[in-house]
Amino acid sequence: MTDFAATRARFHIPEGIVYLDGNSLGPMPLAAEARVARMLRAEWGEMLITGWNRAGWMDQPRRVGDRIARLIGAPPGSVVMGDTLSIKVWQALAAALRLNPGRKVILSDTGNFPSDLYMADGLVKLLGDGHALRTVAPEDVAGAIDESVAVLMLTEVDYRTGRLHDMAALTARAHAAGALTVWDLAHSAGAIEVDVTAAGADFAVGCTYKYLNSGPGGPAFIHVAPRHADAALPALSGWLGHEAPFAFDPDYRPGRGVERMRVGTPPVIQLAALEAALDVWDTVDMADVRARSIELSQAFIAGVEAGCPGLDLASPRDPAARGSQVSFRHPDGYAIMQALIARGVIGDFRAPDILRFGLTPLYIGAEDVARAVEVLAGVMANRAWDRPEYHRRAAVT
Ligand SMILES: *Cc1c(COP(=O)(O)O)cnc(C)c1O
Repeated sequence: MTDFAATRARFHIPEGIVYLDGNSLGPMPLAAEARVARMLRAEWGEMLITGWNRAGWMDQPRRVGDRIARLIGAPPGSVVMGDTLSIKVWQALAAALRLNPGRKVILSDTGNFPSDLYMADGLVKLLGDGHALRTVAPEDVAGAIDESVAVLMLTEVDYRTGRLHDMAALTARAHAAGALTVWDLAHSAGAIEVDVTAAGADFAVGCTYKYLNSGPGGPAFIHVAPRHADAALPALSGWLGHEAPFAFDPDYRPGRGVERMRVGTPPVIQLAALEAALDVWDTVDMADVRARSIELSQAFIAGVEAGCPGLDLASPRDPAARGSQVSFRHPDGYAIMQALIARGVIGDFRAPDILRFGLTPLYIGAEDVARAVEVLAGVMANRAWDRPEYHRRAAVT
């Protein structure tokens, strides 16, 4: 049984803050400070360039990838770290298209995160030989998988509403139609139980700065199913994905397995912060996280619906059909969120009208949920949100 009091004690949450935005940027694990300081002083500072060998920086993307693998049901050796998620989406998509050369269509849904769609669109335009990105409403995806589809590219948990796709069922359907799958686990890894192996996913990608708490700019991960690992070609053929980077061969030869999905020099300082976060994840059972997340979300929904008229649930009501976030709609959602933040309850806003709250059991408990409901009810009851300063849009919402 996961000890959530113990996990909570391992994060820094500023005094007086209820943090319901770990779905966008996880809080700092206390140990990250010392781990990063050690990387700076003892590794970079003292070892200088010898750190690549002596401190194991060069193997870190694979080592850390193995620790992420446990959280997404991937076998060791099938996950590697690097770059940002947008880059990994592009790379997975390019590799999947090449594995299915007779077909031209990338199928996705209109609820997907814009960057995923932009990356697909850019790739399609670059290829310029009849490839196309087709998007349908999330509920229409299953029916739109036909024999023209080369790759089904979906984000498992919708970033706005938290709606959960059935990864296993859609993957089976895609395979039956001769398509490959790229799953984006940005709002899944560390949020819900994920088993890419059981689902038969071909490629999976995700970021680490959301539920996994690696800090702003933390590297992304990519998983390639072992059956594809030696056939999938990395379109971003950087030197660290080469079979022998230090042979400085002018010709590119892809490295073994998922290692070929590496591109350039790894972000070693940021990986140190991620390692500190993964020390906490090592003590956690994802089934416990999921059960607690559902408990907290149900309590939050019940509290908001009882105490905050005017807010409409935008997430699926059935907990089995959503991830670890709960969203409500309101035409003045932006101002309401700013009023909440001013009172120490931090969630975020997603255009056009979504108030989004992440329920993250590692550091959020029932008392935080109760406090958030109470503050939100107060903000709604006296229209405390309707002040000019709360309507003024910041660059990041
Ligand atoms: C957060 C998120 C991203 C962000 O991509 P970056 O390149 O890391 O900025 C991309 N896709 C999805 C689905 C996300 O939720």
